[in-house]
Amino acid sequence: MNIGICGAGVMGRGIALACVQTGHTVILCDAIPEVLEQAQQWVRSQLDKALEKGRLTAEQRSAASDRLHASTNLTSLSTSDLVVEAVVEKLDVKTDVLVRVESIIRSDAILATNTSSISIAALGRQLSDASRFVGLHFFNPAHIMKLVEVIKGPRTSNATIQACMTFATGLGKTPVVARDVPGFIVNRVARNYYNEAQRIVMEGAATIDQVDMSMKGLGFKMGPFELMDLIGVSTNLDVTTSQWQQFYLEPRFQPSLLQKQMVDAGQNFTDQ
Ligand code: NAD
Repeated sequence: MNIGICGAGVMGRGIALACVQTGHTVILCDAIPEVLEQAQQWVRSQLDKALEKGRLTAEQRSAASDRLHASTNLTSLSTSDLVVEAVVEKLDVKTDVLVRVESIIRSDAILATNTSSISIAALGRQLSDASRFVGLHFFNPAHIMKLVEVIKGPRTSNATIQACMTFATGLGKTPVVARDVPGFIVNRVARNYYNEAQRIVMEGAATIDQVDMSMKGLGFKMGPFELMDLIGVSTNLDVTTSQWQQFYLEPRFQPSLLQKQMVDAGQNFTDQ
């Protein structure tokens, strides 16, 4: 398939890698040329690692690399069968991109969003055909994590859901259909992992290191603070804020001042 991806940040580049490795052609778009350049270099370096580890042959590596294209111009998405929007977690930015992409792609192409928390209903509101609009929520790192949430908005057709389940399975993923509720499945559960960890630190009950070490000692692959750093402290705060607002300011989802301060200072939790 021809896959378009809007946003070449942490997620866009990971989704691009997952796609080129499984035979799809990708056009990766971003507003910033330097980001696109870095994203292409990153995908190629990951393909090189796969070659070194014997997971790809030299021919497979070079074919996958040839399938990756990049552009700062959304009109390059006109031939896409499926476009995944992976720009910043802001309703206004995403809506603008989605409306512009819809005006460019074929009428039978699928339009998906990788949003972590924003309602599919709200994101699809200004689209003229939301039956082909769907949430396709990959997890970080997108080329490694198996789970993909396929989120059905109020107007998403069953054919669109089925096509996304088939696409995700073909990427070697484990797709699960989720309802369009704030945080869907995983982020609803995970918010408590991040928020409660921050409350413990703010109360002075334990340090960031102690919390991370404890959770890893229990069997979690990463502690909550390491995980927020991997996700991006700012992106993670956007998701928490969005979910809290959608739950009408429910206290258990309230973002923490500690995280806000980290974002303001441009710091990671584990830098300290
Ligand atoms: P990011 O900040 O790393 O990347 C976003 C990219 O979008 C940037 O490169 C930026 O230049 C680009 N962009 C912004 N506005 C644009 C526009 N108008 N046109 C084209 N490009 C534009 O963010 P990310 O972490 O990759 O997150 C992207 C989406 O994926 C968000 O919705 C986020 O919630 C979701 N998500 C993130 C994670 C994670 O762990 N980071 C996991 C799952 C889902």
